[in-house]
Amino acid sequence: MSLLDDLDRGLLDLVFPRDCMVTQQPMDDQAGLYLSDSGARQLERIHDPRCHTCGHPFDGVLEGDRTCPHCLDLKPAFGRAVCAFRARGHIRQIIHEIKSTRCPFLADDLVAVAAEDPLFRRHLAGAHLIPVPLHHTKLSERSYNQAERIARSLCMHIPGCTWSHALIKIKPTPSQTLLNRTERRRNVAKAFAPNPSARISPNIRYVVIDDVLTTGATLHACATALRKAGAVHVDAATLAHG
Ligand SMILES: [Zn+2]
Repeated sequence: MSLLDDLDRGLLDLVFPRDCMVTQQPMDDQAGLYLSDSGARQLERIHDPRCHTCGHPFDGVLEGDRTCPHCLDLKPAFGRAVCAFRARGHIRQIIHEIKSTRCPFLADDLVAVAAEDPLFRRHLAGAHLIPVPLHHTKLSERSYNQAERIARSLCMHIPGCTWSHALIKIKPTPSQTLLNRTERRRNVAKAFAPNPSARISPNIRYVVIDDVLTTGATLHACATALRKAGAVHVDAATLAHG
């Protein structure tokens, strides 16, 4: 953790007393900064059965094909995405806080809880993580890319993970929030490219990292750019799905 991060944390502590984001109870001496153990137990994890491509959870028991109709239509360029939580309730609120208040410590807390899931850990172990990049104009506005923070934090919790800025965003794109699936895919098509300083290897397993998987359009665009640059093994992971 950098000195700047420590300063940020000190300032946040002054402005916001450290209560758990979920229970609203004081954090006391717990390991997390903004997410207590009892709060973490209230988060809605994704369990099997789930789509084997995008991680979308299926309710009930599933037999036979485990690819959701959306993935059959999209045919994502990533092999498999694993997501730790459903993006609703407390998780939606936490993700919103991570983005809107640029709170890196909350991202760290959520990563720590996500990394307790055995499937999530296995999916990421030993992989080279590539956070979904922001366009440089957006990055200078926000000075914070939550996907990068998540990737960095994952590397601290999961053995053998490394990360880099192997992708850059070469085209600014409007927010995906109000777009449908087709529009989202068109919006981010060709928006990403390999970083000129990166060496993409066919022997490395890459995992594209983002905070939320909604339609998979952004992760698909990133995976497409990596494959065009020579990557063979490309997967994805996000903290939440929905
Ligand atoms: Zn799917």
